[in-house]
Amino acid sequence: MAGSHDVDLFVIGAGSGGVRAARIAAGHGARVMIAEEFRIGGTCVIRGCVPKKLLVYASRFSHEFADAAGFGWSVAPPSFDWPTLIANKDREIDRLEAAYRSNLEKSGVEIVTSRAVIEDADTVRLLNSGARVRAANILIATGATPHPGHTIPGIAHAITSNEAFHLPALPGSIVVQGGGYIAVEFACIFAGLGSQVTLVYRGENILRGFDDEVRSHLRGEMEARGIKVITGQLVKAIEQLDDRYAAMLSDGRRLDADRVMFAVGRKPNIASLGIERAGVTTAQDGGIAVDRYSRTVVPNIFAVGDVTNRVNLTPVAIREGHAVADTLFGGRPTAVDHAHVPTAVFSEPEIGVIGLTEGQARATLARVDIYKSNFRPLKATLSRNPGRMLMKLVVDGSTDRVAGCHIVGEGAGEMIQLVGIAVKMGATKADFDATMAVHPTAAEELVTMRQPSARYCREAAE
Ligand SMILES: Cc1cc2nc3c(=O)[nH]c(=O)nc-3n(C[C@H](O)[C@H](O)[C@H](O)COP(=O)(O)OP(=O)(O)OC[C@H]3O[C@@H](n4cnc5c(N)ncnc54)[C@H](O)[C@@H]3O)c2cc1C
Repeated sequence: MAGSHDVDLFVIGAGSGGVRAARIAAGHGARVMIAEEFRIGGTCVIRGCVPKKLLVYASRFSHEFADAAGFGWSVAPPSFDWPTLIANKDREIDRLEAAYRSNLEKSGVEIVTSRAVIEDADTVRLLNSGARVRAANILIATGATPHPGHTIPGIAHAITSNEAFHLPALPGSIVVQGGGYIAVEFACIFAGLGSQVTLVYRGENILRGFDDEVRSHLRGEMEARGIKVITGQLVKAIEQLDDRYAAMLSDGRRLDADRVMFAVGRKPNIASLGIERAGVTTAQDGGIAVDRYSRTVVPNIFAVGDVTNRVNLTPVAIREGHAVADTLFGGRPTAVDHAHVPTAVFSEPEIGVIGLTEGQARATLARVDIYKSNFRPLKATLSRNPGRMLMKLVVDGSTDRVAGCHIVGEGAGEMIQLVGIAVKMGATKADFDATMAVHPTAAEELVTMRQPSARYCREAAE
């Protein structure tokens, strides 16, 4: 069969999932071609995780300068230059893109710079040249795109995360609409760099899906850092006022700002991709429907990453792409386990979470024990920073297994990566207790919480 095809695997989209699948498949000996219409590396490298984290680092210096005084430092009033940050960030992204390209080439993958669309179950057409490529297998790894939400007057004036990375100047003021992690992170980035930030979200509190205490703790900390958070409201219209904008809220309020940013969600990139010509179907949430092996209803077409709208994170897309390559060419059918994915929100302060929230645990487990610590970190004693850390363990009261861990505070993202190993292995609260503390750290609270702050028993409640 391979003889009648030009390639064994055609990958559409050179982002996190596509690049990994292509490289591993080529390593297994497959003939692989990958098409990318924008830049190699995809969302994460070009306009997602990586540039965002660089901006996060930049934004946190303001807090460090403020904290330094209590430790005896006197620092001349610091000044910040946005064009320097953006130029340095762009240089690093160029370097990374080149590294991704070179790694693909070294693996023997053929790269085509073109938009690719599906013609039928084993043909892909390259729009730049019009060439048709016959592929034994096709992997759709086209990612997702910022979604402007409902159509409102003046929506064209709003920027998304894509444009936020390339603004010519730091906005003196910005209205950010959205309550998900991207909206929250950008609100904190701009505030840390010195913008006046208003976050507008239609729900009752930011970060839907996260533990309720995490949500309220972060909101309080953001407000304490000067971010105005307005919930239960929507931006209904945007008007241009010379070089500024007015965001009109659903309650009639008007917020004037230098920029209005929308971060209200992302939608899978399937428009005009031709999936229907091959018979590939979508799930109710709009993502391409796949099984545990990332196989679509068409046996030789697979889909990984954000286009499947499962867990929209880079490490997940990478793992899915790797698994497809192993399944197809490694002689090892590999399904990806989407349970217990640790994740971070790079807000200020940071969040790290894994597993069940208290609400989810109480809805699904018969007995739940909650252990909680809300404390002032040691560093804050001299810096006089009023911020507090929150750590919370959600324990399955029937088995003693730690079902969830939620951290808000400095280093939360780093901590949750390691807690993630223990939780994935099925560690119990007794295992946490048996682990010696590392002192003095904030993380030691995770192994020194002795008494539950709450205990729930469903039978008793019923
Ligand atoms: C602002 C922001 C911050 C984020 N921060 C984090 C984070 O901190 N941690 C984390 O884990 N995740 C983060 N993410 C999510 C992460 O970027 C995605 O989950 C990840 O990039 C998904 O990988 P993917 O391979 O599915 O798609 P992508 O990386 O989006 O790659 C898809 C590629 O396909 C190309 N493409 C699309 N259609 C075609 C076509 N027809 N032909 C050719 N090429 C095509 C696109 O140009 C793109 O390069 C963030 C996302 C954003 C937007």
